[in-house]
Amino acid sequence: MISSKEKILESSVQYIKSVGPKRAESFHKIGIKTIRDLLFYFPSRHLDRTTVLTAAKAYGYVINGYPGEVTIIGKVEDVERIRFRKELLKVHFRDATGFFECIWFQGIKYFEKVFKPGDIFAISSKPEINYNKLQFVHADFDRITEEESQSFINTGKIIPFYRIPKELKARNIGDLSLRRIVSYAVENYVDKLEETLPSSIIKDENLIDIVTAVKNYHFPESKDLFEKAKHRFKFEEMFYIETLVALRKHNYETKLTGNSLSIKTKLISNFLKTLTFELTKAQLKVLSEIKNDMLSEKPMNRLLQGDVGSGKTIVSLIAMLIAIDNGYQAAIMVPTEILADQHAKNISVMMNKLHEIHKERKIKVILLLGGQKKSVRDKNLESIEFQEADIIVGTHALFEEKVKFNNLGLVVIDEQHRFGVRQRAKLQSKGKTPDVLVMSATPIPRTLSMTIYGDLELSVIDEMPKNRNPIKTVLRGENKLPEIYKFVIDKSKDGYQSFLVYPLVEESEKLELKAATTLFEELSNSYLRELKLGLIHGRMSWLEKEEVMLRFLKKDFNVLVSTTVIEVGIDIPAANIILINDAQRFGLSQLHQLRGRVGRSSKQAYCILVAKDSLVSKTNQHELDLEYLPPAQIEKHKSSVRLQTMVKHTDGFKIAEMDLKLRGPGDIFGTVQSGFPELKYADIINDTQIIIDAKQKAFAIVDKDPKFILPENQIIKQNLLIQYSESLKYATIA
Ligand code: ADP
Ligand code: MG
Repeated sequence: MISSKEKILESSVQYIKSVGPKRAESFHKIGIKTIRDLLFYFPSRHLDRTTVLTAAKAYGYVINGYPGEVTIIGKVEDVERIRFRKELLKVHFRDATGFFECIWFQGIKYFEKVFKPGDIFAISSKPEINYNKLQFVHADFDRITEEESQSFINTGKIIPFYRIPKELKARNIGDLSLRRIVSYAVENYVDKLEETLPSSIIKDENLIDIVTAVKNYHFPESKDLFEKAKHRFKFEEMFYIETLVALRKHNYETKLTGNSLSIKTKLISNFLKTLTFELTKAQLKVLSEIKNDMLSEKPMNRLLQGDVGSGKTIVSLIAMLIAIDNGYQAAIMVPTEILADQHAKNISVMMNKLHEIHKERKIKVILLLGGQKKSVRDKNLESIEFQEADIIVGTHALFEEKVKFNNLGLVVIDEQHRFGVRQRAKLQSKGKTPDVLVMSATPIPRTLSMTIYGDLELSVIDEMPKNRNPIKTVLRGENKLPEIYKFVIDKSKDGYQSFLVYPLVEESEKLELKAATTLFEELSNSYLRELKLGLIHGRMSWLEKEEVMLRFLKKDFNVLVSTTVIEVGIDIPAANIILINDAQRFGLSQLHQLRGRVGRSSKQAYCILVAKDSLVSKTNQHELDLEYLPPAQIEKHKSSVRLQTMVKHTDGFKIAEMDLKLRGPGDIFGTVQSGFPELKYADIINDTQIIIDAKQKAFAIVDKDPKFILPENQIIKQNLLIQYSESLKYATIA
């Protein structure tokens, strides 16, 4: 439903002055189809008078040792090619206060055409003084018109610059022409925009209206108004996303009725008696939160966060036992087959132990995997359907149509980051409305979990079991490998077992396999001759993997050579050394997960990161502090920063924060997985307050008027239908 006033905004960009059909085609290619799209094609940056110097001032700055980048606006006087050992291009500029020059050593032919005498440019770079002249080498430059430069200098007007994709360049659209096109659109059509936020929100949150915001995002009247324009769109974006989250939450809280359970028998208390350790305070705290959810009538939807090794499995198992105690089945879904296998084994062992003191009932555990033999599978399916099985452990296979739970009361999803909203919804639709417990070892920074998982209640295990020592992490060059192998041998005499990990070669599983196999053979015949070695990799069937893991657990091997198949969840308490080769190739969260494979007992554990010698010496020489590194530097030193972060920090939350900084929010948030649109304006790291405010507003509105019936909420309803129709689907799933 678009009002008649707005209709004109839906016409093609073709009708904007100096666009026409050919250029319109190029605009279409980059997603700008209508006039409205063009109005929302915001500049990537602005030229602002407060950041521009005169030539004379810049000269003075450099003389006095100012080291940074400056911007000067000047007119091209002359362009000359100079042969001085090598050919170079020199462009002479002047402004009202003096002269400066720009030098190009490369792309001479091209730049000769760009800089025409009489044209005006804004030049930005770090200047030098050469023969008393202010000089820029390979500077950034933007062309502006005489008129713009006048109003810029006289009235402090702020000039926008837009990203100009190659499709536009191909039609001769440059800085000047695009600015003119946008300016025409803004002047003639911006008033046609209709407000997309209720007036009460605009008032309460002190936002500027949509017309003022669009105008000032392009051509800011002042810096302050530009900031307000950005703020408005950030808020609006987060408000709608949080509205979707609120709707999702509202939906399962009201539409779905869950089971209200109670503690029926001595099952739980007996189980606690079988444990060889005491639960930590944090485990007890999250357990009581989970228990409250399960006892209440509304279905549980809870995210359990806890660092690698914090003991989430046992917590989820107790939750499963509560469901079973009430006559339900419980399922736990994990991302890999070996992990499923390991969980099934561990849980079975624990259930057998429980049976010894809790004679009245034997809890039956089954494992359901895609790769199982048909006869085994059929039998499993049957025992799920007829509820012989109490606890079902599996991978994605649990989703399949064929799997019919008789009476599913609880679904546990381990290592959530691997599963998306969609899968969650699918599994939830399997039972009546089972309780859902999502577990994640990837500690998601608070703002992110609030957004993506904002519909889940949050429980955090913020404490490690007492018997743990921090893992010692070191970074070593490849030249140190012989010494490291010696260390592995020495430690094996004290009963230490070691993982030797080789990175996944993404392009080719075959190569990865070859690397691991070759290495396995080499090591068995050389450095590690005196030890027993095992090998595990992704090409093995789960049965083969299972056998290797079991033998490692039984200490048949001292060393397990492995690809990243061991990354998630594997629990071998006596393995206390992990050597990660080519460590620079792993991402931070992956390194943290891998490191989490060790340090699961009271012995001192070691994580040895091995990388190219040159990278190691670079990393060890410079303290790279992310807080102080400019973005360009971070980009350049990413692998060093990652390695140093691992050496410095063991806290998963700290590491996740770093990871977010390194990868940028788009990478994490933008995943199709989240079921949400990608963020255009807001920044998950820096806009925390905006996110919190938007969430509060959105939840309050959905709480009061979930169907958007009130007149003031019509705007919200319409916008959701028009702009967020795709995401709306996921909001109502579950
Ligand atoms: P994660 O949270 O990474 O899934 P696990 O559940 O695999 O961690 O637990 C890691 C190890 O710690 C397991 O061997 C588990 O038996 C043990 N564990 C769990 N809770 C405690 C505790 N309170 N005290 C000592 N050990 C514990
Ligand atoms: Mg786990």
